[in-house]
Amino acid sequence: MKCPHCQSQTIVKNGKDYHQDGKAIQNYLCNGCGKRFNEGTETPANVVSLALKMRSEGMGVRASGRVLEKSHGSIMGWEQKLATQPPTLTPYLIN
Ligand SMILES: [Zn+2]
Repeated sequence: MKCPHCQSQTIVKNGKDYHQDGKAIQNYLCNGCGKRFNEGTETPANVVSLALKMRSEGMGVRASGRVLEKSHGSIMGWEQKLATQPPTLTPYLIN
């Protein structure tokens, strides 16, 4: 887990928000830049899986990035992460 703003790993848990469906969202505070963020700040898994689907259909990494408004670096990072981890264990991925 890293801060999505500054990529620092010096983060602490900072309470939880509860959604209407009862799902708890963990909040974090970054000691590096002082910003708060939560799990929802990160890229949702459906965007990541869409990116990987586009790639498997032959779209270039830059073209996929333009469609999803993500950097091609993010998409390459997701490909690398998901090559080593089962998608079920990564509901949210850091940009
Ligand atoms: Zn930070």
